Amino acid sequence: CGIVGYVGSKRAQDVVVEGLRRLEYRGYDSAGVALVDDSGRIATDKRAGRLANLEKAIAEDPLPGATTGIGHTRWATHGAPNDVNAHPHLGAEGRVALVHNGIIENFARLRAELERAGVEGVSETDTEVAAQLLEREVLAGADLTTAMQAVVRRLEGAFTLVAVDAQDPDRVVAARRNSPLVVGLGEGENFLGSDVAAFIEHTREALELGQDQVVTITREGVEVTGFDGTPASGTQYHVDWDLSA
Ligand code: GLU
Repeated sequence: CGIVGYVGSKRAQDVVVEGLRRLEYRGYDSAGVALVDDSGRIATDKRAGRLANLEKAIAEDPLPGATTGIGHTRWATHGAPNDVNAHPHLGAEGRVALVHNGIIENFARLRAELERAGVEGVSETDTEVAAQLLEREVLAGADLTTAMQAVVRRLEGAFTLVAVDAQDPDRVVAARRNSPLVVGLGEGENFLGSDVAAFIEHTREALELGQDQVVTITREGVEVTGFDGTPASGTQYHVDWDLSA
């Protein structure tokens, strides 16, 4: 399973799908992407099976030429490996899209709470509650970073989350607890990945995050906080792999 995020000036679709390709070795049963441009809408495509299925679907029905995007390869834990359960998952209004590796242990309680508030799910995943809670925070006026901090404080389990907001195409926000996430530092672009393989073709400057951190990437920079919003910093390092593979 793998996670990729990108904000910059290249075609996000290409960067994200290439990143997922580089993470294929981790294993997966489904793949998907979400892209955000200035249209105010999020475009997604997600498919069970090989990454090639997703690429074929995108080739037949092209996504917009956005420069912000997220991608996911899924290893199903809750819900069958089918197109609906594949990530990204959207909030009920389609305002935010979110991908997740890991398990949200308290999803059933959160699902019940959302249903009492009139928010139904469309998938069988533990993940969808996080997308819906995140969207509710954003609709209530929080920016995506603040919304992510509020949501992860409510989640139990192990997770890497990466999300985008249709109304805020200049940022990608992620969080991690007991699940991998690395930042790739570029010039006028920044990356997120489950590991550096996701972005090694683009940059060798990486930022390792600590546990229970939220990170926001924009074209200009990277901001790290704890789940409570207090400023934090990652550990920057240079990746000196020989990339002959
Ligand atoms: N628990 C989530 C699901 O089943 C994410 C699985 C993963 O790590 O890919 O959809």
